[in-house]
Amino acid sequence: MRNEEMLLIPGPTPVVDSIYEALAGETRSHTDPRFVKIYKHTIDQTRKIFNTDGEVFVVAGSGTVAMEMAIVNTIAEGEKLLVISQGYFGDRFIKLGQAFGIEVDVLQSEWGQQVLPEDIDRKLSEGNYKAVTVTHADTSTGVAANLEAIVPVIKKHGALVIVDGVCASTAMDEDMSKEYGGPGNTLDIVLTGSQKAIGVPPGLALVAFNQAALDARAAMERVQAYYCDIYNWIPIMHDPSKYFATPAVNLIYALEEGLRIVLEEGIDARIKRHQAYGRAVRQSLAVYGMKALASEDVAAPTLSCIQYPEGVNDAQFRAAMADKGTILSGSLAHLAGKAFRIGHMGNTTADMLEKAVMQVGETLNEMGHQVDIAKAVEVFSNEIKQLAA
Ligand SMILES: *Cc1c(COP(=O)(O)O)cnc(C)c1O
Repeated sequence: MRNEEMLLIPGPTPVVDSIYEALAGETRSHTDPRFVKIYKHTIDQTRKIFNTDGEVFVVAGSGTVAMEMAIVNTIAEGEKLLVISQGYFGDRFIKLGQAFGIEVDVLQSEWGQQVLPEDIDRKLSEGNYKAVTVTHADTSTGVAANLEAIVPVIKKHGALVIVDGVCASTAMDEDMSKEYGGPGNTLDIVLTGSQKAIGVPPGLALVAFNQAALDARAAMERVQAYYCDIYNWIPIMHDPSKYFATPAVNLIYALEEGLRIVLEEGIDARIKRHQAYGRAVRQSLAVYGMKALASEDVAAPTLSCIQYPEGVNDAQFRAAMADKGTILSGSLAHLAGKAFRIGHMGNTTADMLEKAVMQVGETLNEMGHQVDIAKAVEVFSNEIKQLAA
């Protein structure tokens, strides 16, 4: 790999050489038939990863643009949105909705836990929620949402299910053709960014709308957006030789390669690999007395928020890890200084993660906390071995 460092933060994630090579292709006109063909292909690939026959959008922008696209095209000013928040990124939908005059209510879990389906059911009984946002993996806490449990509850009340897959898509199940406990109980919108579980550099927003979400847009006379109005993009997605706003040509090359890698591995295999990585990282670090904030039954397979043992200084620890070539993230809000976050998603490999686990042990030893590295590595490889079996 061309990378000199291991970027084990919750996104951007390590970029493999073939994606860099694609990114460095010659910048062509966005109307050049050679580019148009590639853009068309990435749109088709995007439809495949979400398994939808609805509309998909691949536009320049970060994950937040994808979130905005989902909200402004489905919920009108004055309508109600219920935000299910399991951390910082769940909370982002509160401000986002409010920025457009949407009436936002929120169900917040304690950090490290999930919002309970019965609480969602009770809240939705108050009536008239147009949509519910669910953060599939909250990047601040490493907590995953249980779609199996909550989608049927949301659908019972007739609200749209908007899934923020920025830290999940292609690594967690987001099959838009799947029914959750009854006919029509499907995800209505799934959105993501290029730089997390897909493993492409930051800069592209990917959003999928099913028919119910498109019907919500159709019922709105106008939306409070121009760039994010899906009606400006549908003609382009059907015929990418048309122009609305210049696509990020080189990033589209990179996404085509990134999605080729995803589809070659296969979504099911990719999901299993991420589950194994998540378990291996959390359980091996536990050998050092480092506990994940999220318990195993709610932990996200894509990243973990790991609490320090007593007396480990966050800044010192992460600086020592960076000196060894491994970049980790600090934690947010009240966890700042008390925990670090490690991404284990996208094109990250088991070898990279095993190396990081060893380096964490070395760093702790250097900082005067004696830990058993050999034991941690053994726990790590046992989890990974089960994947191959
Ligand atoms: C990173 C992230 C976002 C924000 O994406 P940007 O690309 O930074 O705009 C939103 N939701 C989740 C779950 C994320 O992990």
